[in-house]
Amino acid sequence: MRTDADPSPPVTRFAPSPTGRLHLGHAYSALVAAQAAEEAGGTFLLRLEDIDQGRARAEYEAGIIQDLRWLGIDWPEPVRRQSEHFELYREFLHALEEGGVAYPCFCTRKEIQAEIAASDSAPHGPDGPLYPGTCKGLSRSEIEDRLAEGRAYAVRLDMTKAARMAGPLSFADRRFGTVAVDPESCGDVVLARKDAPASYHLCVTVDDALQGVTLVTRGEDLLHATHIHRILQTLLGLPEPRYHHHPLLTDESGKRLAKRADSESLQALRQAGWTPAQVRAEIAGRAEVAERARRGAHD
Ligand code: GLU
Repeated sequence: MRTDADPSPPVTRFAPSPTGRLHLGHAYSALVAAQAAEEAGGTFLLRLEDIDQGRARAEYEAGIIQDLRWLGIDWPEPVRRQSEHFELYREFLHALEEGGVAYPCFCTRKEIQAEIAASDSAPHGPDGPLYPGTCKGLSRSEIEDRLAEGRAYAVRLDMTKAARMAGPLSFADRRFGTVAVDPESCGDVVLARKDAPASYHLCVTVDDALQGVTLVTRGEDLLHATHIHRILQTLLGLPEPRYHHHPLLTDESGKRLAKRADSESLQALRQAGWTPAQVRAEIAGRAEVAERARRGAHD
């Protein structure tokens, strides 16, 4: 279902993380965005989501650019690199902290797992069990003690409070129609990581707004993230884009493509003699299979 109430030419984007080679699934994502922009005389942007400085590599970044150009996709320069904007994300994080909807979380992964294992009814979200809220109840002095000990911490969104402040929300998706935001489905997500002063959710929300993105296109595996992004947009006073969550391509056995599946990287296909037109045709064929599978599952 299309819900294109806004007739102005869209600004779309493809936002890969340079932590591996692009495969056919990424190429599909890039093409969905590029075609949506082209069809309507809009703009396609490339953004490199490289906040994970431990995993991002210059050679992957160069590979992404080379692969997209080879496919015939173009974008205005300069490309936005998230690692160049940590100060800015810190300001938005600070606004959330000031608003009383963010709290420091000192838990280690192990502690979180132990707490979940000890509880009889750990609520689950799309990525597994939700954070059990261990650090939400810390008093000011408990927080100060931990900070004085120099303990590393992440910053989490207090989802219950955030949802109350934001009020009822929805978003418009080209495939899913109007979707009601379900805040509790994702729990107290991370806004700033222990190892980086920001997180995917915070950066993507801020960047899409600051880059003037009006149509967010990405895989339906990130549909749940949009619930979080709508809440953050509302709390931060940022505009609401429209969305297009596309189906995920699978291999012949029906398995989702992963970055590890090097055999289907664009680089490998190119080296094996594939042309951009063949890659586009393969993607179109697989996208149709994926869309049909989804319709079949929902009919
Ligand atoms: N960087 C994310 C990824 O590579 C995509 C983010 C988005 O499109 O919102 O999965």
